[in-house]
Amino acid sequence: MKIICIGRNYVAHIREMNNDVSSEPVFFMKPDSALVTGNKPFYYPDFSSNVHHELEVVLRVDRPGRSIDEGSAGRHFKELALGVDFTARDLQNSAREKGLPWEIAKAFDYSAPVSSFLPVSKFKDIHDLSFRLDLNGKTVQEGSTALMIYSFEKIIAHVSRFISLKTGDLIFTGTPAGVGPVKPGDRLEAYLEGEKLMDFPVK
Ligand code: MG
Repeated sequence: MKIICIGRNYVAHIREMNNDVSSEPVFFMKPDSALVTGNKPFYYPDFSSNVHHELEVVLRVDRPGRSIDEGSAGRHFKELALGVDFTARDLQNSAREKGLPWEIAKAFDYSAPVSSFLPVSKFKDIHDLSFRLDLNGKTVQEGSTALMIYSFEKIIAHVSRFISLKTGDLIFTGTPAGVGPVKPGDRLEAYLEGEKLMDFPVK
């Protein structure tokens, strides 16, 4: 199982990071050791002093494929969830300055908590799903999949040109604006279409 993460998929988040809108989706990966399920705590790593939350909608690949066309991409996932793409922003910024890869900033242990999955069929329109993150009871991120630059289908088509998708792979589809730091003692709660899917502490 692999975790593929899309970057720069919401204009307001691209602006808050002073990045440019890319002409095609940007992606990177996390290993399976990053995955945390069941609302277990996020353990703050000792190598960073600026870990940010990035709340994202996550797809689970349900049918393998490569070079999938956009028109049939919807047949490759049946469930979605919420996840947090925890990012060591200090390490990421220094890697970016040096033109180095992002792995240590993105792929570290526990950096990918994911909620339980819900069937796509449960939702009227997966291209207009609202989601939000509350930090210590205050809403810090709010998004809608209607605001994605690259749709779920475009993401699957793009990624599968380069990397075969296998059943069970997870795809983080990008974060809306409002990313910011967490610290030990914080509580994170995440909602999809008003339903609470995540509730876990930072330790
Ligand atoms: Mg992200």
